Amino acid sequence: MKGKRCPETGRGQLLAPAGSRLRLRRGDPEHGFMAMRIRILGSGSSGNCALLQTEQARVLIDVGFSPRRTRELLAEENLKPEEIDAVFLTHEHGDHAAGIASFARAPQVALFANAATARAVQDRVEHPLAWKLFETGSRFRFRDLEIDAFAVPHDAHDPVGFRFSTGFDGDLLAPRRSLAWLTDLGHVPQHVRERLRDCDAVVVESNHCPTLLQADHRRPWSTKQRISGRHGHLSNEAARELLASIASPRWRRIVLTHLSRDCNSLDAVERMLATLRPHLDCEFTVVAPGGNTPFWDLA
Ligand SMILES: [Zn+2]
Ligand SMILES: [Zn+2]
Repeated sequence: MKGKRCPETGRGQLLAPAGSRLRLRRGDPEHGFMAMRIRILGSGSSGNCALLQTEQARVLIDVGFSPRRTRELLAEENLKPEEIDAVFLTHEHGDHAAGIASFARAPQVALFANAATARAVQDRVEHPLAWKLFETGSRFRFRDLEIDAFAVPHDAHDPVGFRFSTGFDGDLLAPRRSLAWLTDLGHVPQHVRERLRDCDAVVVESNHCPTLLQADHRRPWSTKQRISGRHGHLSNEAARELLASIASPRWRRIVLTHLSRDCNSLDAVERMLATLRPHLDCEFTVVAPGGNTPFWDLA
């Protein structure tokens, strides 16, 4: 299966940081109560996938690697595709959905997408898949997760961002924790900004540096226009503007992801962050193109 990819290709020099190999098990007493844990397994134009775990659910957010690579990434966690409870797809681009066939023979894995995304992905897969359709703009539950799926402006059929929440406000034993997932969008409408304010962690793309994008010789002008357009990807500056404009005191971690290999650099993102850090009292993680993260815990 080969899908339409986001308008980024090519190779660069940035090295992926080493990732954690921590294995998490539901109810494992050595970990105590687990509100929400997440690890980005891969990020960037070569594929996006994250493993999110709560007390009752082990899910993937996007599955943008080949089925073979998806199996390898899950094997690093001592997991098989059939041991995943659900997959949540943001949109049909290959760097977010290329690995969905990994679940063709695992009908017990719930594959969540809106109808337009499911149709576009199913068209590229031989076997019928176990879709669980949601409406864009709706809130729904899966086990102990509450999911908000909201529209984002991107050049796909019906792309969404997600907010994943678990627990309850004021509950000391099971406190409410929320994480926003926001990649692949050309600009940030007000309804998206409002979803981020009361989150504990925000994963947001910091896709390109406009100067490096314009200097890139491999991409035609039209592709550069798509990337930087209103339905393309957020630049470093656009990510900074978004975060600075909200600057929620609740945020504990910001993760900058989906960096372009050719049209961004860790230095450019760090320069952007230097202007943000004085205003935001939280942890920052920058995921290199092709990189991953250790698990982090929103206990
Ligand atoms: Zn993408
Ligand atoms: Zn995309």
